[in-house]
Amino acid sequence: MRSKFVAGNWKMNGSLAANAALLEALVSGSHGLPAGAMAVLAPFPYLAQCEARLSGSGIRWGAQDLSEHASGAFTGEVAGSMLREFGCSFVLVGHSERRAMHGESSELVGRKAVAAHAVGLTPVVCVGESLAEREAGLTESVVSSQIQVFLDVAGPAVLAAAVIAYEPVWAIGTGKTASPEQAQEVHALVRRVVAAVDAGRASTIQILYGGSVKGSNAASLFAMPDVDGGLVGGASLNGSEFLDICRAAVACGPT
Ligand code: PEP
Repeated sequence: MRSKFVAGNWKMNGSLAANAALLEALVSGSHGLPAGAMAVLAPFPYLAQCEARLSGSGIRWGAQDLSEHASGAFTGEVAGSMLREFGCSFVLVGHSERRAMHGESSELVGRKAVAAHAVGLTPVVCVGESLAEREAGLTESVVSSQIQVFLDVAGPAVLAAAVIAYEPVWAIGTGKTASPEQAQEVHALVRRVVAAVDAGRASTIQILYGGSVKGSNAASLFAMPDVDGGLVGGASLNGSEFLDICRAAVACGPT
């Protein structure tokens, strides 16, 4: 059985004051939601603030990236063990903004997932096609290959601990959301690719949808049988809207 789960990717947004208000709204609005149903993924400098405010609240937190290395001469990088010291449960790997702006390959994404798993973090592995790839009919091959390379590099133990987020690049931050049917089609494909490696894991792995999820479209997306919740960018910066999205996920019940 898979419970629904929603994570908010704050991207490079926030300030101590703005986060304090947002975290307050999330904690007070989350009563009645099951513990573990929601998480926030904050910029590195704000992880201590998340830990201070969210500890004991049932809301978990995490980071948006990590180094593939454990320690050493990697100026500017942040190791998974450092994230664990601030109570992180999750870390994004392979967000499309990192793939596009920092040249991250699926191999590197796999190695980052290994580094996350080695310290007990749950990697949230992002995959998705660009608009040009979708229009060229390449969605299935692009997404399958991203997942396959991740599986080849990271292996079954990391797969057993990972969450996958399908985020069509054309839907991220654009206001264009995949239709529930488009999302379902790719989520079912992701589950089939996972099943070819580990049939048991395919029925339990959480596959989140990301790309302009809002309070108004969350329920229809989360009602799809293979959509296990959401990875939410812009709308996660608004406490009441993010809570609406989390409530929509919980209302759909486990799959
Ligand atoms: C994201 O950044 O992962 C994302 C899905 O962004 P948005 O919800 O703003 O499209």
